[in-house]
Amino acid sequence: MASDADTVFDLVVLGGGSGGYAAALRAAQLGMNVALIEKDKLGGTCLHRGCIPTKALLHAGEVADQARESASFGIKATFEGIDMPAVHAYKDGVVSRLYKGLQGLVASRKITQIEGEGRLVSPTAVQVNGQRVEGRHVLLATGSVPKSLPGLRIDGDRVICSDQALQLDYVPRSVVILGGGVIGVEFASIWRSFGAEVTIIEALPRLVPAEDENSSKLLERAFRRRGVKFEVGARFSGVEYTENGVRVSLENGKQFEADLLLVAVGRAPVSEGLGYEEVGVAMDRGYVKVDGYCQTNVPTISAVGDLIPTPQLAHVGFGEGILVAERLAGLKVTPIDYDGVPRVTYSDPEVASVGLTEAAAKEKYGAENITSFRYNLGGNGKSQILKTTGEVKVIQLKDGPVVGVHMVGARMGELTAEAQLIYNWEALPSEVAQLIHPHPTQSEALGEAHLALAGKPLHVHD
Ligand SMILES: Cc1cc2nc3c(=O)[nH]c(=O)nc-3n(C[C@H](O)[C@H](O)[C@H](O)COP(=O)(O)OP(=O)(O)OC[C@H]3O[C@@H](n4cnc5c(N)ncnc54)[C@H](O)[C@@H]3O)c2cc1C
Repeated sequence: MASDADTVFDLVVLGGGSGGYAAALRAAQLGMNVALIEKDKLGGTCLHRGCIPTKALLHAGEVADQARESASFGIKATFEGIDMPAVHAYKDGVVSRLYKGLQGLVASRKITQIEGEGRLVSPTAVQVNGQRVEGRHVLLATGSVPKSLPGLRIDGDRVICSDQALQLDYVPRSVVILGGGVIGVEFASIWRSFGAEVTIIEALPRLVPAEDENSSKLLERAFRRRGVKFEVGARFSGVEYTENGVRVSLENGKQFEADLLLVAVGRAPVSEGLGYEEVGVAMDRGYVKVDGYCQTNVPTISAVGDLIPTPQLAHVGFGEGILVAERLAGLKVTPIDYDGVPRVTYSDPEVASVGLTEAAAKEKYGAENITSFRYNLGGNGKSQILKTTGEVKVIQLKDGPVVGVHMVGARMGELTAEAQLIYNWEALPSEVAQLIHPHPTQSEALGEAHLALAGKPLHVHD
């Protein structure tokens, strides 16, 4: 749908990813006249190159592992291999169904969709397809793209980023992954399940370095058992092409040969050449600077999602988009507590958390004021049934509320739904201990940890 040149929209949204489309949907729901400008596909990174396709591949990997391990459940099945075109057909089917649903949803809210590459040309206007789209407010939501290291060129063939990794039509025999954060660890898990030899290189001293140290330790232990190799505290120094692949060198002198190098060292905001600075929007290293209400220094311009320096997560984009729409509609809004946003790395095992790490809690409140309990999934019936290992760790302010929950194990991501309520409602362990968890579920592990912190452990050995 094209916009009428004389229309002044209530809100012009630049970028139709998680942050942009959430704002558009909520603003339209609140009665605003909204234009949504997208140069590629509605749904952005999360739907087409991020959350959804990676989780489909991870699930396919889980099915492969279950087939391999079926005999240990008494089931006679044989694992014959990975049919990559069929895996992609499954993954693409999931994406296209969600894409259709999203297109229908946006259309049903009477949002004016404009296809094309937009550029901010004034505090209230975006230029697209040679046309000026005016709004009382503009929301910048142009997201992010994979970044690389200085001098490291992503050729899309042997040196790839996550965009190409999602399209790979074969299972590599071996891969080196640069970066042991969320994206690197998820691809390591996928490729290992598909049968590849995987080595992760991480410059910091541990995998998933943003997580609680105990979670890193548990993930590393599980990865060792799965045969995922990793070098931590190791800095990349260069890559050269070999006859059939790549040779990756580290500053410590070690070298690794593989079919592919996946560069997963983070994502850079998309802001260059889009007119932001020219219009006077304050920036910091490519990110748009905002206050707690996602408003920039230019009062008519807001920004959300991966473009601003908040956690690069789809649900953060959704939350920020909703916040902006509600603020512009005059509703009372509260700044987001980013510590209270759940974080999940969907590898096998999953690493899930909300709130502060133990180190951050000790720094904030003083080590003497923090206590914690680790419940081993070995005592949890459902986890035993699933044959998963790991822990639920709960960090508490002494005689006070829970300030962090950190979980490692299969399906732990699902438990962040409860963990986030506990953290964000500042629940006391004694209050959570009052709640009866369904048996046998993995949620009982959360319940057990709180029972223990409340001084009445149940399934815990002394
Ligand atoms: C491999 C991978 C896995 C991930 N997994 C998860 C996960 O499991 N859970 C999670 O929460 N997050 C995950 N993420 C992160 C998540 O995808 C992002 O945080 C989220 O997509 C950010 O939303 P956004 O709206 O800010 O940006 P984007 O989704 O990047 O959307 C920005 C949109 O703006 C458009 N655009 C850019 N410039 C212009 C322009 N000039 N004119 C018009 N349109 C423009 C782009 O085409 C794009 O569609 C993952 C990311 C990756 C890469």
